[in-house]
Amino acid sequence: MIHKPVYMDYHATTPVDKRVLDAMLPYFTERFGNPASRQYSIGWIAEEGVEQARGAIAKTIAAASKEIVFTSSSTESNNLAIKGVAEAWRQKGNHIITLQTEHKSVLDVCKRLEKSGFQVTYLPVKEDGMLDLQRLYDAITSETILVSILYANNEIGTIQPISEIGKMCKEKGVFFHTDATQAIGYLPIDVQASNIDLMSFNAHKIYGPKGVGALFVRQSNPKVKISMQMDGGGHERGMRSGTLNVPGIIGLAKALQVASELRELEVKRLSKLRDEMYKSFCSELEDVFLNGSMANRLPHNLNMSFLHVDSTTLMMSLKDIALSNGSACSTADPEPSHVLKALRLHSDRLHSAIRFGLGRFTTEDEAKYVITRVIEEVTKLRKLSPYYQKELEYAH
Ligand SMILES: *Cc1c(COP(=O)(O)O)cnc(C)c1O
Repeated sequence: MIHKPVYMDYHATTPVDKRVLDAMLPYFTERFGNPASRQYSIGWIAEEGVEQARGAIAKTIAAASKEIVFTSSSTESNNLAIKGVAEAWRQKGNHIITLQTEHKSVLDVCKRLEKSGFQVTYLPVKEDGMLDLQRLYDAITSETILVSILYANNEIGTIQPISEIGKMCKEKGVFFHTDATQAIGYLPIDVQASNIDLMSFNAHKIYGPKGVGALFVRQSNPKVKISMQMDGGGHERGMRSGTLNVPGIIGLAKALQVASELRELEVKRLSKLRDEMYKSFCSELEDVFLNGSMANRLPHNLNMSFLHVDSTTLMMSLKDIALSNGSACSTADPEPSHVLKALRLHSDRLHSAIRFGLGRFTTEDEAKYVITRVIEEVTKLRKLSPYYQKELEYAH
């Protein structure tokens, strides 16, 4: 028996793992203290929990405890990293480099900075979503203070050459920030080996709670100074004021621990299911295309265009499956996402793209169900499409 609707949107969010919830629960009740209230044991106990979590998180990415700043989300981490560096290093330069396929919480921060006098280069990507390293090299000037490039894309799963970028930034004396929200838990991350100076991630994409995130800020070789964006009590070593979300932080640490333990097996299991879906769509349907590189791709991501079928219409007819086409679906005429547009694909491919996000609770039966249903609905919708029928006539 499969539970419906089948959830295939794990890039949007994930359910909290039972192990994570169990670790969090005591911190809502018996261990409710404010970690800043160190004058009595109720406060220390909460502080101890937070510091253990901080240490465990740091260790997973090869950082030091004091390099982890807790925030409310990856959105906040991205804001703090980019605005924080821009403000603190304004004397050194006013140029920032990023990618056209970044998350909005990076792109919109950059747009705001442009209004206050910063210059931003939005690098294009190749047709497979990959950054061209030479283009990045050529874009760095004496004014450049920060390069912000996402580790792995949330729509097409493309993994960027992070270590090469880190090496280049280090040689050029430019700070390197990466949004690792989709990568953490699926890829082995080492901020030392990859020369990462700042890194954003959150809990709710890795089976932890919503409303908690973290920013890694390098404290040595080089020390990255950032301006605080939230004024107040000076929590988090002055980098982010506000009473800590203690249960959330405990949950983030536990989520990361569980994800790291399961990583190797999950990567194998999910990429196998994903590949089965890909192969079935390719063999059973004509005119299907993969969006984004297959070689450099998150194991649980598949993004495909089913030509001649509008993706919104397809999603509507697949109400038994939770999917996404990446567009802001609040408008009547949904525009393809900026990520797909940046691939400079043919318009039919843009409008027929669907993202499949698999995850920890995806079963083989669910993957099979999705394969069957998608093939069924694509075939049906194509039969109904006058354009598609015309094309077939021309072709024969
Ligand atoms: C989900 C996501 C974000 C935003 O994370 P929130 O914690 O929900 O703010 C940022 N970047 C990427 C790549 C994401 O997938």
